[in-house]
Amino acid sequence: MRFTSFERGGRKAIALAVHDGWRGLAEGETGFPGTLQALIEADGEALPSAAKTLAVAPEVRLEDVTLLPPIWSPEKIICVGLNYKDHSSESGFTQPDYPTIFGRFNSSLIAHRAPILCPPFSEQLDFEGELAAVIDKTARDVAEHEALAYVAGYSIFNDASIRDYQFKAPQWTPGKNFDDTGAFDPYFVTADELPPGCDGLHIRTRLNGAVVQEASIADMVFSVAGLISILSRFLTLRPGDVIVTGAPSGVGLARNPPLWMKEGDMVEVEIERIGVLSNPVQDRKAAA
Ligand code: MG
Repeated sequence: MRFTSFERGGRKAIALAVHDGWRGLAEGETGFPGTLQALIEADGEALPSAAKTLAVAPEVRLEDVTLLPPIWSPEKIICVGLNYKDHSSESGFTQPDYPTIFGRFNSSLIAHRAPILCPPFSEQLDFEGELAAVIDKTARDVAEHEALAYVAGYSIFNDASIRDYQFKAPQWTPGKNFDDTGAFDPYFVTADELPPGCDGLHIRTRLNGAVVQEASIADMVFSVAGLISILSRFLTLRPGDVIVTGAPSGVGLARNPPLWMKEGDMVEVEIERIGVLSNPVQDRKAAA
């Protein structure tokens, strides 16, 4: 099943991909099954049940609506750094044997087609195309071989980073949490439609049409299952939590000269069998 979240007339709405397009319902409309976030946070039967309802709902043209991230206010957005060997070495780090984990706040999230904003006091806006895994049931001390049973599905993330703020101190939080930098969308694809852990799927980032990052999800040092197992040792993962699994090599920081995103650019992250997340880049003041 492939879902998306959108807004219509100020109301949150959900749509399901069907063979000839999308069908959806908004809050307040007859049969509305709940938001995608609410359905993911509910038990495992909520999504298939909603899909049955949505399959016969009115048609939605996604070009005509404002999309929302699949989950716009997750309890936790857990990001993983240095999860591809090539990216670790290009960034000047020795590949760690324990994942580099940091948090993003939901205040930084934006959807497909919304602008990533470059603040007026930094030029170092960088791209990081990544796979996002969404948890569907409470996970505590989960063994790696059982961990994929805790994944509801997958989406695409651009962990856009303000590098000078990321490295002002050993903790990366500021540079990873600027408003309007965490692009998350456009589709949520249930795990049963994809290879286990998305293993082997191709991920590619394009800046103004040129490929700047390219890898296989199989190249991740810590797989989706491994990350869930490691994370669940120290915290309780809850339905709707998002794990952003790390960026392949090719980031702008590691280039000579550096390649920063700027006003007027278009950045796209594509993951095979999931879709393409596209965001224009704007100066913050131009967008205000
Ligand atoms: Mg990242």
